[in-house]
Amino acid sequence: MNTSIATYLCPECGKEIQKEFYAYRWSEMNYRFWSDGYVDGDGWFLPCYTHCCPACGKYYLMPKTKDVHAEKAFPMSAKLPLSEMKDALQQLADGGQLEAKVRLDMMFAHHDLVRYGAMAVMHPDEVEDYLDNLQWLLAYYTAQNAGFSELVFELHRLLGHDDECRRLLDAYTLEVFVDRRQKRFARAGIAYEYDAERDQNLYKQAIGRLQEALGKRLMPYVTNK
Ligand SMILES: [Zn+2]
Repeated sequence: MNTSIATYLCPECGKEIQKEFYAYRWSEMNYRFWSDGYVDGDGWFLPCYTHCCPACGKYYLMPKTKDVHAEKAFPMSAKLPLSEMKDALQQLADGGQLEAKVRLDMMFAHHDLVRYGAMAVMHPDEVEDYLDNLQWLLAYYTAQNAGFSELVFELHRLLGHDDECRRLLDAYTLEVFVDRRQKRFARAGIAYEYDAERDQNLYKQAIGRLQEALGKRLMPYVTNK
């Protein structure tokens, strides 16, 4: 694994933080996509957004990798335990973007309990916090997304809103799919050329995945390996 150190300042205390990163190329990695948006593979997992400063002990969100590292890289870091994420949420709750990232980390941490087999189902004590968190994320990301959003679909799905999921799927046409793809490519600065056959196939796959997930609940499912 190709690792190197990046340095940046803690947004809370201003002290220097050094973190080890590992560079990656998607084409050389094995990976699994999960319906909740999480990605992992053999020997690696997506790091969380929320980190703890070793100098002041406060929580902060990782700066964007491209701002602190020359290559495509992930910070090497163990995940924060769920209990610490709850502390982080208390500190970083702003009703906006910061809070949304911490809450996504919390959702992943809740799912990890099941994803990695520590529990077959979530402990009943956690369920209320888990559902509250999903509700908050749903309200936030619904307000952020005018068009189709896989995350909004997933949140409805996890909350058991099957009718709403079907309504979203009905509105998710090939045209909307291609439009989203074009915008994603534009954001990444990559030229996009419409190819009817390829795009229709990709659209069918995407819709098929979402339909297959309908009716399933807390457990995220593997979409690719
Ligand atoms: Zn600090």
